[in-house]
Amino acid sequence: MTGPEAHHLRTVLRLSPGDPITFFDGTGARYQARIERILKDRVTATIIGQTRDLPPKVHLHLGQALLKGQKMDLILQKATELGVEAIYPFYSEHGIHKQPRDTQMDRWQRIVIEACKQCDRATPPEIHTPREVTDLITQPPPCDARLIFWEHETRHTLKDVLAPHNKDCRSVLFLLGPEGGFSETEVACAQKEGFIPVSLGPRILRAETATLAATAILQFTLGNLDPVLPDDQEKSPCAPLSNG
Ligand code: SAH
Repeated sequence: MTGPEAHHLRTVLRLSPGDPITFFDGTGARYQARIERILKDRVTATIIGQTRDLPPKVHLHLGQALLKGQKMDLILQKATELGVEAIYPFYSEHGIHKQPRDTQMDRWQRIVIEACKQCDRATPPEIHTPREVTDLITQPPPCDARLIFWEHETRHTLKDVLAPHNKDCRSVLFLLGPEGGFSETEVACAQKEGFIPVSLGPRILRAETATLAATAILQFTLGNLDPVLPDDQEKSPCAPLSNG
């Protein structure tokens, strides 16, 4: 390892030869290794094992309206911790229209990588380029169930919506609106395209609260928060690393 990661191991974590470390290659592999040598510009380690995350029981895709300030950062971090597999940021009628700069996309990547390290997740969520909500509604990624969280919904709760799907449902796309909410037209368009409007109760939640609550409830209901036994982890032989 070289660069900031090597610096972090040497000067922040103050690791010594023989210490165990775990690291990720960003493509889904998690390596267990032992530090060999700590040099000025790099750290070398011997890989002693490799595992991958098990695939989730149900693939969860979050469509998130772009939010102001640091709220997107919070959502990306928490969605990563909670195991969301892909994030589709979108522009909408009552939300942000300004295209995020490349630096912001890079920052989002860094946030999810840091969250992965912190929560021991080997496969970072995919962050898609922001698009119009109407594009996401009319050309969604293939999913067995599509939901739109709407504070004016009076019929459907998450409980009723997921119960009939539970057995055959392998993937869910769920949309959360901006601070200004979804427009009536957006909700009608989503319904026409097969999205089910869902309520999170009688109180209007802040956008970021709604996303975190919806994500946690969905993951729990879909079985993605069940513990994984160590023996269930996919084990595979060590693979050489490109940059040591
Ligand atoms: N501006 C709107 C509220 C938007 S809240 C108003 O004041 O009326 C931001 C987003 O959180 C909404 O678009 C919706 O997706 C979600 N949300 C908040 N409270 C909700 C609730 N009780 N049920 C379902 N979704 C909710």
